[in-house]
Amino acid sequence: MPVCWLNGSFCAERDASVSIFDRGLLFGDGVYEVAAVLNGRLLDADRHLVRLARSLAAIAIPHTQSAATWLDVMQQLATQNGIDEGLVYLQVTRGVAERDFPFPVNATPTMFAYARAKSLRADANASGVRLLSVPDMRWTRCDIKSTSMLAQVLAKQSARAGGAFEAMMHVDGLVTEGGSSNLWIVNDGVVQTRPLANDILAGITRDVVLELAHASGVPVRERAFTVAQAKAAGECFMSSATSFILPVTAIDDDTMRGGEPGPVTQRLRAAYIARADRLTR
Ligand code: PMP
Repeated sequence: MPVCWLNGSFCAERDASVSIFDRGLLFGDGVYEVAAVLNGRLLDADRHLVRLARSLAAIAIPHTQSAATWLDVMQQLATQNGIDEGLVYLQVTRGVAERDFPFPVNATPTMFAYARAKSLRADANASGVRLLSVPDMRWTRCDIKSTSMLAQVLAKQSARAGGAFEAMMHVDGLVTEGGSSNLWIVNDGVVQTRPLANDILAGITRDVVLELAHASGVPVRERAFTVAQAKAAGECFMSSATSFILPVTAIDDDTMRGGEPGPVTQRLRAAYIARADRLTR
């Protein structure tokens, strides 16, 4: 029976419940994080907790639990559920209050977390995935890791219905990011991704990929690219905490590189896994 954590206590997932008046449910008024678990240990959880603090501050939800306590809860969830490879999900909402849009006075944030097994090193998608380009229908604060995600739900549903693994969201043809990932292209050995601003999430994996590229002398360009440029690129890949780096081998109806992952993508994925393995042993 999987164990989760809710507002300070561990309990069986089937026994965990929240109020119908929780603002996470009523308004999507909350933020979340997802960190990978490898070798039974959390990967880069400290960085995820820094981003959690930033997201909470951005929407003025009080920080009621220290990073050290979160780390302990997250690791205990991985351990108690016997997760060797997988993820820990955590969410904080503004709490329970009579339904009214402005912030309630004195609401206590709702906090919960759970763990899941997922194959990370031997991800079946590591041989290459298809993206479907869709208009980015989101708001202007995509830098906040908010649980208000109807636009991504619709984008990723379109992708799935179209036989694609992930959405490539764009504004007037200029790629923002994936439905739940950052997107990259490679041309002549130069790795390119959109610069950080309010229009994309500052992916933790994105940061690590930039560090790995710098460390191995791969030049990086932080500049937006179009859907057409991605289709014409030498390589394309996506990054996220629970997929690491996955090669993109098709976009819409265009197959790239005869469906083969690119060499720079492969090297970065291998470097990413080597680093992750080293940090979790
Ligand atoms: N962009 C969006 C919109 C996401 O939801 C995610 C996944 N949380 C990412 C990028 C990748 O972020 P990370 O590398 O921290 O998982």
